[in-house]
Amino acid sequence: MRRRIGVVGAGWTGAVAGRRLTDAGFAVEVMEKTSVVGGHSRAETMNGVVYEPNGAHIFHTDNQAVNQFVNDHGLTRPYDHKVLTEVYLSPDDDEGRLLSWPPQVEELRELPVWPTVERELASLPAQPVGDNFEDYVVSMMGRTLYDLFIKDYTAKQWGRPATELSARFAPKRVELRRDGHRGLFRDRWQYFPPNGINEVIESVLSTVAVTLDSEITVDDAHRLGQDYDAVIITAALDDFAGCPGELEWRGIEMCSRFELTDDPGGVLTPAYVTNRPSTRVPYTRTVETKHATGQRIGGTVVSEEMPGAPHRHYPVLTADGANERRNIELSEKIAERFEIPVYFAGRLATYRYINQDEAIADAMAVADRVATELGG
Ligand SMILES: Cc1cc2nc3c(=O)[nH]c(=O)nc-3n(C[C@H](O)[C@H](O)[C@H](O)COP(=O)(O)OP(=O)(O)OC[C@H]3O[C@@H](n4cnc5c(N)ncnc54)[C@H](O)[C@@H]3O)c2cc1C
Repeated sequence: MRRRIGVVGAGWTGAVAGRRLTDAGFAVEVMEKTSVVGGHSRAETMNGVVYEPNGAHIFHTDNQAVNQFVNDHGLTRPYDHKVLTEVYLSPDDDEGRLLSWPPQVEELRELPVWPTVERELASLPAQPVGDNFEDYVVSMMGRTLYDLFIKDYTAKQWGRPATELSARFAPKRVELRRDGHRGLFRDRWQYFPPNGINEVIESVLSTVAVTLDSEITVDDAHRLGQDYDAVIITAALDDFAGCPGELEWRGIEMCSRFELTDDPGGVLTPAYVTNRPSTRVPYTRTVETKHATGQRIGGTVVSEEMPGAPHRHYPVLTADGANERRNIELSEKIAERFEIPVYFAGRLATYRYINQDEAIADAMAVADRVATELGG
């Protein structure tokens, strides 16, 4: 008899793990609590305009196997993602300046603050140092650039001073560019699908049994043990274990509005993603997906990204690592309730910020582990 695998969640991780195990001959069921697949990366439409209710999602990867996988499912439209930041150089300025993100030394040389910045850069250590986010970033770019680009953005985004945050995620998020490379990413492959990512994830799931509107919790452990030989969980563990609040998350709310445009190609903001570090506005960035889709339609959707919403978007990596330890404890507690092997994968269950390509690689790895440990 074919071995049966239950997968909790139909985002990238659940979809790819489900597909890989189906292809390997397992009888798979993916259970999704909402009425749609695609998870956090999904796009929607407002008056026909494609936009992203959960924030900008640009697919980029250096992983050849992941690239091949997404190409096979129709993700092939090249895209070069460039981000702008609106910076106020002085409190008296009425208008901000649009500069590249990450900051580019070439552009910074043109600013009146350059002599100070140059002096600070000359006295930095060869490699960034520091355990907390602020110390690390100041040692990477100096105090002036930190204050202009990072300080208020970080305080708005995380709702706490950067000195309380871990330096661990700084290398992935912050950079000072000296080589003139303007794209945000340096990965070999980068795509943006014209209609959003949904069609790609739907293609991945086209041969997999999916049950929608099916929320699974640890209280279903006994039933799952009867229905399956193993379970892969991609849900947030505080939620899954029925103890919301045990893990700290930082969420955003995308406040999205439709606006008419005279020109079908018309857009209203300077870039797909524009960082807004200033405390003059409560949001951290504006997102206008039409820049990336290139859609021709008499309107656009502009979203303001408001931090501090009660959603499970970003794990909060404090300098003491307490939340990560708590997640491991929760995974052990949950596994004890099951009579069958349980695997945890994806951004929520492993309490990590991971990009879509990393989620896919995770899903491939967990599927291969299940296949090896359970046999076909
Ligand atoms: C604000 C933000 C911006 C991002 N931007 C980018 C980007 O530009 N590029 C990029 O590559 N990545 C980006 N990411 C990361 C990307 O969103 C993740 O890599 C991706 O969502 C991971 O997929 P996943 O399947 O692990 O999780 P999810 O997409 O969250 O999927 C989990 C699924 O499980 C379901 N579920 C949860 N609990 C249960 C339950 N109890 N029972 C049943 N179903 C359940 C959920 O409804 C959801 O469908 C961003 C993330 C955030 C937070």
